[in-house]
Amino acid sequence: MRLLSILLTTLALFACAPLPPLGPGSTQQTPPTSSPVPKPEPEPQAQDMAPVHFINVGVGFEKGLAVIECPEKTWEFKAGLDFGRKEIETEGNCKYGNKEYRGSFAVLSTDSGLAIINVVHIEDYLKGLVPHEIGKLKRDGIEALKAQAVAARTYAYKHIGSRKAQGFDIYADTRDQVYNGKIGEDSIANEAILATTGLVIKYNGSLTEAYYHSTCGGKTESAEVWGQESKPYLVSVSDSANGRAYCELSSLMKWEETFSKEELVYLFQKNAISARADKTFSFSKIEQIIIKEKFPGGRVKRLVVFTDNGSFEVFGDRARRLFAREGKILPSLLFSIAPKGNSFVVTGGGYGHGIGMCQMGARARAVAGQGFEEILKAYYNGISIEKIIP
Ligand SMILES: [Zn+2]
Repeated sequence: MRLLSILLTTLALFACAPLPPLGPGSTQQTPPTSSPVPKPEPEPQAQDMAPVHFINVGVGFEKGLAVIECPEKTWEFKAGLDFGRKEIETEGNCKYGNKEYRGSFAVLSTDSGLAIINVVHIEDYLKGLVPHEIGKLKRDGIEALKAQAVAARTYAYKHIGSRKAQGFDIYADTRDQVYNGKIGEDSIANEAILATTGLVIKYNGSLTEAYYHSTCGGKTESAEVWGQESKPYLVSVSDSANGRAYCELSSLMKWEETFSKEELVYLFQKNAISARADKTFSFSKIEQIIIKEKFPGGRVKRLVVFTDNGSFEVFGDRARRLFAREGKILPSLLFSIAPKGNSFVVTGGGYGHGIGMCQMGARARAVAGQGFEEILKAYYNGISIEKIIP
């Protein structure tokens, strides 16, 4: 999930051990009691169920030494010592790996080394995220920044506790949301975050999976492309008006990649497992590649490859990995494929998984005068936008 500031210049794909206590916990303070009389243990109250507002972001991993420079002192941790989780409370911003971060830190010793965790209030987390995810926008894009802030905030709350095996809540890269601490904070983005403080996307009273991506290519898709059950708010929607896609100005609205047949013989066998092909076997020739079924938004659902030694099939978004070369998967799943001489030409549209909000579309909608709620409701069906704490 991710759009970089200007798609013309930078493009990247858009997209956690024993879980210790989730940071400092809620900012909700228990009101002081006026009664000096001891009371029995109270029943859990609604406020005990209040959401945690701090998130544990996995910002780095070290196999040797981790150095965290805080205003009070510089902390050093060595991998290989089993110290569990060490909290670093600080009065100011600490630096780790040339980046400065708001909030505090924790370091976790794991079997594979050290996990460096930035424990940060979600509203501060968003400041280090929004400009990297949707780009630094001018004032006419502020409604898109607000929409991005609300979607990313929803994603953050929804994913607290979701990566227990890693010991934190969320990665600081495209595995979750791109977060770079204080680097790259932007005043207009901060204004958008402040204006939407606490707002999240709900469906039937529950937090949604607020997925988003760079460029849908004209139509979004449901989460079925990942083999997940479809959700009523994540359905395929048109991102067009008057026959023109809102995201049409994206440099990856249309794309084309050419692969020689020999290259595909190599890549398909190399990538078969990560693409979860239904069968893996060796072959020396590709006879045909067919898109057997598509999702409602037009993306590839079943891709069948016929070889000189039988056929195999790949489902949904995994088809992008089947073509991966030098670590780069296909820009999107919205593609067709045709033989041309000794090659296959893959012609596609859009960038990213295609689920939920289209960031380039949101930017165009903002410039066209749509408000952030209207933008979000265009991409997430039947949702409401509410404060995380009613
Ligand atoms: Zn779009």
